[in-house]
Amino acid sequence: MMRRLKLIAVICALFGAALALALAEPPRHDFPPVGCWEVLCGDFHMHTVNSDGKLTTRERVEESYNLGYDVIAITDHGKPGPYRVARYLGEPLGLIVVPGFETGVLGKEHYVALGAPATFKPRDSHRWSEKPGEKTVHYQEEMRAIAEAGGILFQAHPPNEWREPTDWGVKQGIIVGVEIQNGYGKVESGSGPLGGVQCYPHSFDWALKNNLALFANSDVHGTRRQGPQPVTLVFVSERTPEGVMEAIRARRTVAWFNGIVCGREELVSKLLSAAVSAKKSGPTQLTIENCSPIAFRAELRGNTIELPPYERTKLEWSGGSSMTIRWLNVWTSLTSNLEVELKIVEPEAVTSLR
Ligand SMILES: [Zn+2]
Ligand SMILES: [Zn+2]
Repeated sequence: MMRRLKLIAVICALFGAALALALAEPPRHDFPPVGCWEVLCGDFHMHTVNSDGKLTTRERVEESYNLGYDVIAITDHGKPGPYRVARYLGEPLGLIVVPGFETGVLGKEHYVALGAPATFKPRDSHRWSEKPGEKTVHYQEEMRAIAEAGGILFQAHPPNEWREPTDWGVKQGIIVGVEIQNGYGKVESGSGPLGGVQCYPHSFDWALKNNLALFANSDVHGTRRQGPQPVTLVFVSERTPEGVMEAIRARRTVAWFNGIVCGREELVSKLLSAAVSAKKSGPTQLTIENCSPIAFRAELRGNTIELPPYERTKLEWSGGSSMTIRWLNVWTSLTSNLEVELKIVEPEAVTSLR
């Protein structure tokens, strides 16, 4: 009996050591509440050794946590299974994990499925046929199966052409989103489609025209690059996997990558109103506070101002009780920046007790 107990103790110790995670303190990445929503930082496209990635599921979970993500999906090609390990490791850290895998049409579109359970068995991953009765499963049949299993799809690294499988999936309400950024893009001074940043500009148009959620995901296979990561901001009613899926279905996402923010005007305007406030701090002075992890760049009366994350910036001001700000790194379409009227809050008056 003693022997057996000892053996169990040794196994537990070994198992415990194997589970010790290589964790670091994540960077600050909280947002103030936006109305009744909490804003989470997500990455919904990444690979592990279970398909063609270089890292284990555990290493992906550690890496994502360390970088400050709140929610991830491990999306190996045709393999929903790694979700179970990821969830087991992520949950105690407060990292939300939603089930996912990558799939698609033979030689054409790739889609990421989110929300179908880990037990779901994908057929002919990346080999769906475009017509029924061929050797591999017809795309409509497999998209339906994913939807019936409780999942949704978004299009990954979209090619320029809007083709029938995407059109059909969108019309059926199965495809609910599209990546505007996949990986890290390139920043080339002034030459990229959006403020010098390379991405998939056509998918921004698609998202606006077809009411799709915008995603900025890493699609990382090896070790991540240092520096800013692509982030899909998700506006959730509750901080749970179900809450994340509900927000994605309701298209409450904003893409933040390479220093720019892309989203539908009604959502990014709410984000900016919650994240940035202006207060009078002297007869001719204003203090603008940015309570978010995003560095904003704005144009105000012809001047460009920089608002670093979680900082207060002082400005000379002799205007009225509100100001019109154009947010130079916040895009509401391929050709327009967000413009909002920001209210200037007066310092609290000292009120008499009597
Ligand atoms: Zn792909
Ligand atoms: Zn991928």
